[in-house]
Amino acid sequence: MNETFAQWPESLWRDGQLNWNFDCLPRELSCDVAIVGAGFTGLWTAHHLLEIDPQLSIAIIEARQPGFGASGRNGGWCSALYPTSLSTIATETSREAAINLQMHLIRTVEDIGAHITKHDIQCGWRHSGTLSYSRNEAQLARQNADLIMYRDLSLGEEFMRSLSSSESQQRIKISKSLGASFTPHCASLNPAQLLDGLVTQLLANGVTFFGDSIVSEIGNRSLRAHTVHGPATVNCKWNVRATEGFTARLPKHRRTIAPLYSYMIATEPISSRIWNDIGWDGRETWNDGRNMIVYAQRTSDDRIAFGGRGAPYKFASRIGGQFDNNASVHQLLESTLHELLPPTKSVEITNRWGGSLGVHRDWHPSVQTDRTTGQASAGGYVGDGVAFSCLAAEALSHEILDTDNEIRTLPFMQHVSPKWEPEPLRWLGINGMISLTQRADVAEENNKNVGFLTRQLLQKLVP
Ligand SMILES: Cc1cc2nc3c(=O)[nH]c(=O)nc-3n(C[C@H](O)[C@H](O)[C@H](O)COP(=O)(O)OP(=O)(O)OC[C@H]3O[C@@H](n4cnc5c(N)ncnc54)[C@H](O)[C@@H]3O)c2cc1C
Repeated sequence: MNETFAQWPESLWRDGQLNWNFDCLPRELSCDVAIVGAGFTGLWTAHHLLEIDPQLSIAIIEARQPGFGASGRNGGWCSALYPTSLSTIATETSREAAINLQMHLIRTVEDIGAHITKHDIQCGWRHSGTLSYSRNEAQLARQNADLIMYRDLSLGEEFMRSLSSSESQQRIKISKSLGASFTPHCASLNPAQLLDGLVTQLLANGVTFFGDSIVSEIGNRSLRAHTVHGPATVNCKWNVRATEGFTARLPKHRRTIAPLYSYMIATEPISSRIWNDIGWDGRETWNDGRNMIVYAQRTSDDRIAFGGRGAPYKFASRIGGQFDNNASVHQLLESTLHELLPPTKSVEITNRWGGSLGVHRDWHPSVQTDRTTGQASAGGYVGDGVAFSCLAAEALSHEILDTDNEIRTLPFMQHVSPKWEPEPLRWLGINGMISLTQRADVAEENNKNVGFLTRQLLQKLVP
């Protein structure tokens, strides 16, 4: 097994357990659509294709087993968030396109909830919105600016509203909260359980899964892979690259998507005595307004799953099991959790893990299809792929099957991001951005001005 795919992550959701054990590819295979990667993108693509044409033969080819990537190890926010600001989308395309995109994301979160209910997928789904706390003046200013931006786009109180300091504390007793914004368009879930539910349903609908098969070349209407039994070839009408943070391992894609690591910790189930001190009865997901994102959910078994970005980018977009643990980032997450929610200081941390996000150079997700080569791809969701992958897969399926559907006009369709810089510029640029972001947070925490140059650079690097 190639070292990138060697180790199964010790996340809370799976705890080192493999739920699936699909055989590897045979020497030769033919199908209508061959999907590379059994994460949410790959699975939702198969689902949406079959919704439109149930007769299609679909094979999903996975380097390890379903859920090995970010989909099986994420923070479990199923949100209508988009990785770049809607005002950027409005400027780059049109106001209507930005609003339409937001509406589709809201609908997608609802569709996922309806799908989970319809198929009785037990994944702790709780659609109770998300809170973003402001803990210093700079964060509060950004929160207010975001609200103004949404109002300019005619997205009113029902989309997002602000809570005063005391209202925000009534929800969750976050230390030093100056206020919060609340949007109902987010649910929390156990991502691995959703993933398993999707695999079960796709198997019932005739999709064929192959595990332990590493695709090494994506060609025109064909794939090449290697397995423990030797090389394999797949002939297909379409292939779909759904490899997100692993994409840079593929030839011709070294600079397409940069993998950025995000890390998580989870507590033991917390006693009702401590929950009384914290509040959080609504099980909303939440974060605060810092530049270097942290994210939290209260799980269905009363733990806290808490994550954050900010780990250094690995030279040449390396990724692998050896990076799934990072003691200093995990320690920082633990102290941040204690600072935000002091009653958690007495609670044991039971799980620590990490995984990679996929980031395009301009931070825009994209779906691409090429009818002449039969190649398609979807990804680049940064940290917002749980719901977005479903919308991207839906749009991709309509594109492949050439239906008459307005979803094909959404701004991420056929979007071409610039390539990342060659190394060492990429390493210098990404790690420089991470360090600037962290410095900006420290300055804001101390109510100091973030320098004009730093702010300009951050806006350029993270649009
Ligand atoms: C720690 C963490 C927390 C996150 N939290 C959230 C969150 O709370 N909310 C949210 O919306 N998003 C979150 N994200 C992002 C989200 O998980 C991803 O955007 C989403 O899961 C991407 O799904 P995917 O199917 O495109 O990619 P993945 O789930 O990464 O799937 C790609 C699959 O392709 C396989 N593969 C790769 N290369 C090959 C190859 N050559 N041959 C065969 N198979 C291959 C991999 O093994 C993998 O299983 C988080 C991510 C991480 C890492």
